[in-house]
Amino acid sequence: MTSSTNIVAGNWKMNTDVTSGVRLASSVAAGAVAVPGVQIIVAPPFVSLAAVRDALAGSSVGVAAQNVHAEDSGAFTGEIAPPMLVGLCDYVIIGHSERRQFFGETDESVGRKAAAALQHGLRPIVCVGETLDERESGRAVEVIRRQVVAALADLDPEAAGSLAIAYEPVWAIGTGRAATPDIADQIMGGAIGSTIAAVLGTDVASETPLLYGGSVNPANAAEFAAVPSINGALVGGASLDAATFLEVAAAF
Ligand code: PEP
Repeated sequence: MTSSTNIVAGNWKMNTDVTSGVRLASSVAAGAVAVPGVQIIVAPPFVSLAAVRDALAGSSVGVAAQNVHAEDSGAFTGEIAPPMLVGLCDYVIIGHSERRQFFGETDESVGRKAAAALQHGLRPIVCVGETLDERESGRAVEVIRRQVVAALADLDPEAAGSLAIAYEPVWAIGTGRAATPDIADQIMGGAIGSTIAAVLGTDVASETPLLYGGSVNPANAAEFAAVPSINGALVGGASLDAATFLEVAAAF
């Protein structure tokens, strides 16, 4: 990516309630002033989006949802539509491996969700990543290319500049076993960059932020930040403590 603003997003997953989420977001906002030049984002559970948005008013910290449905409305009990998120958040994480693994999300549904989010002015952070089995059987690049092609399939090319892609190898998420910077670069600078270029052109490819995710912490963040193809991080466990999360952000 050519832009100089790296992105560090904290995925709180199914952690925090409204009170503790507001407290965490407020602590992140207070510390974010000391981390200029990095777009810090927090992704609380849906029920806390409004309160966290209010707590972050006037700060530089962005808000993301953790999921969205592809339809604007309808008989989809328990789901949240893109128009419902407008005004609550600027970003939405789509296709996290936990959604794919536990909630039946497919490459195709991820593509439809990304397109729907963009249509409503939400910035998708689309997650892709191979399992350990796929990596060990030599299929990592093939899997990533397939996931990226599907994620981009329905996008309006005019709006695609708002997209970010997170490479999150499934074997690295929540395991304490991060990818090496070399592995991340092979996938991000290689497979992901070239696939975006092939589908949407080199201009979009060069502008699309690519985030690394998977056991990022203050001890390894600088190694990832030093890789030119890596424009930020998607952080799970280490985003639940403001000081730890801000240390990660400061590395970028
Ligand atoms: C994630 O869930 O997106 C993630 C990267 O988790 P962790 O940082 O805990 O591996």
